Formats: sequence, C-alpha cells, structure tokens
Amino acid sequence: MATIKLNDGNEMPQVGFGCWKVDKDTCADQIFNAIEVGYRLFDGAQDYGNEKEVGEGINRALNEGIVARDELFVVSKLWNTNHAPEHVEEAFNQVLSDYKLDYLDLFLIHFPVALKYVPPSEKYPAGLTGTEDDKLRYEDVPILDTWRAMEALVKKGKVKSIGISNFTGALIDDLLRGAKIKPAVLQIEHHPYLQQKKLVEWVQSKGIAITAYSSFGPQSFLELDNKGAQSVPGLFDHKDIVSIAKKHDKTPAQVLLRWATQRGIAVIPKSNKTERLVQNLTINDFTLTDDDLAAIAKLDMGLRFNDPWDWDKIPLFV
Ligand code: NAD
Repeated sequence: MATIKLNDGNEMPQVGFGCWKVDKDTCADQIFNAIEVGYRLFDGAQDYGNEKEVGEGINRALNEGIVARDELFVVSKLWNTNHAPEHVEEAFNQVLSDYKLDYLDLFLIHFPVALKYVPPSEKYPAGLTGTEDDKLRYEDVPILDTWRAMEALVKKGKVKSIGISNFTGALIDDLLRGAKIKPAVLQIEHHPYLQQKKLVEWVQSKGIAITAYSSFGPQSFLELDNKGAQSVPGLFDHKDIVSIAKKHDKTPAQVLLRWATQRGIAVIPKSNKTERLVQNLTINDFTLTDDDLAAIAKLDMGLRFNDPWDWDKIPLFV
C-alpha cells in the first residue's frame, strides 16, 4: 500500500475508503469487508452520522486480529457547529467514543464555516443547521481560534495529525502565519471537472498533503439531485476517460483515481461492492502518459458540486 509522508512525520495511506452516505444498516459490515480487502484508511466525519457503525466494523476487525490498530489510519472531521474552542475537544471526545478508539490518526476542520453550537443532547450530529426552523445561525469564531484547539488535541496525544478541508489558498496562507502546528492535510473536492491546479501546486509546495474527495465527479451527487451534477456527462462514460481506460486495460474509475495518485494526491473513493473496492485499491500499477494527462487537463471546467454557496450563499469559493 503506497503511503504519503506527512509534514509531521506520520504516514498516510494513499488510498482510503470514504464513509459519507454509507448506510448505517450495512456500514459495520462494509467497513469490516473493506479491511479484509486491504483498506487501511477510513475517512469519516461527525456529520456523516455513522461513526458508531464505522467503529463497530473497525473494532470487529481489530478483535478478530485481521489488522492491528497501528496499521489503520482513522480520520474524522470537526463539524461546523463545534468551532468554538471550548467545543472542539468535546466534539473530538464524542468521535472517539463513537468509534470506540483511544486515538485518531487525523482530525480535520470539515469546513471553514463556524455555526452556532448545538448541544449533542439536543441533536447529534447537528446536521447543516441543527435548528428547528432550518436556518443557519453563525458564530463569530476566527479560524485560528479553532486551530489552536485542534493543536491542543495533538499536544494531549489524542490525535496524531490535524488538517483542514474545503479551505482556499488565502485562508490557508493566513492560517500558516499563526499556526504552531502546520496542517498536515488539506482535503478538497478534486476531479477532472474541478482540477484546482493552482491550489494543488501551492499547497503541495507548502508541504501539505492533499486528499481528493469525490474523485468520480458528478457520480456521488446525482443521488442528491444536484443540478450541476445533472448538467454534465458522467466521468465514467466520458469518451476521453473511456479511451484512456481501454488503452491501459483499466476501468474509468481506476483512471480517475490514478490521475490523482500519480500527482501525489491521496484518494478516498466510496463503494459498497467488493469488486469495486478491490478495483479502487488497485490503481498504482500503471502510469498515465503525458498525452493522457494533457487530455484530462482539458476537461477542467471549474465545476464544483459541494459548495456552501448552495447552503446559504456562504462565499467560501467566490
Ligand atoms: P466518490 O467520488 O467516491 O463516488 C462514489 C460513487 O461512485 C458511488 O455512487 C459508488 O457506487 C460509485 N463507485 C465507486 N467505485 C466505483 C467503481 N470502481 N466503478 C463504478 N462506480 C464506482 O464519492 P464521494 O462519496 O463524494 O467521495 C468520497 C469520499 O470523500 C466520501 O465518502 C467522504 O469520505 C469524502 N468527502 C469529503 C467531503 C468533505 O467536505 N471533506 C465531501 C464529500 C466527500
């Protein structure tokens, strides 16, 4: 399993399993199966609402001796309603207790959007709003204050690495000026329709590893009735991706993942089919040519499917 050496010395597997929208009913079995197949990184989040089930799958594999804890790389993300420094550790402890683990490998700030605290006794996970009237309520927490509380988790030995997700260049630049511990990882939406070339180049030059999410582009957003996803051809059927796949005797999914890993980016595809799990894990045994890369570069249209602008006109990426 290829790994990426993080700027704090920890090693992160380059291919992992994404836990978003994994059904609670089958989640523990899927995680267990993924571990049996060879997955070692699990990308969860408070907001996914399935951390107990993810933890159940992990612990079953640990108890059966299929894997040891130090061979796994378990990730979670701080939700928007927990940005106030006094709530960061509380949220983290909830994650640990849901996973039934005693440390995490990586904890990310899910979005640089601070929303009003929702006590877990009222609603957990809080969801997008956590409010009865479904309106977003904001909280004035500068990102560096949240980051300080993340750093405190590292100092207490509760998490090995900390990072960020859905951050833009200017915000990362500002964070780096105040951070005592650099973010180890930036997780971003990244696929041929949204390549973010300058962000990737600059962030990698700062020694921060990139994890791509939604590597298959519109695929994951079709079931959410996302208008942008419905407006473009699926990447699995895109003629350029299909022809590159045929040339290498690989599937379009493998080409999309390899396109990222070949440029040093980690990927976290999600699938509930064993055959696809294996396929998504076996992607580093071929090399895309310069022509392949040039053809994929042409597909960029800056099309983002996961945008807080759609929640409440939040100007994160404007
Ligand atoms: P994805 O791009 O991994 O696509 C998943 C879809 O592709 C599913 O419909 C699946 O059935 C299908 N699929 C998977 N493997 C396939 C294969 N080999 N052939 C054909 N179809 C295949 O989707 P995603 O869930 O959006 O992203 C992956 C992970 O990234 C998430 O589970 C989550 O962990 C993370 N994520 C993070 C954020 C964030 O804000 N940080 C946002 C979205 C997703």
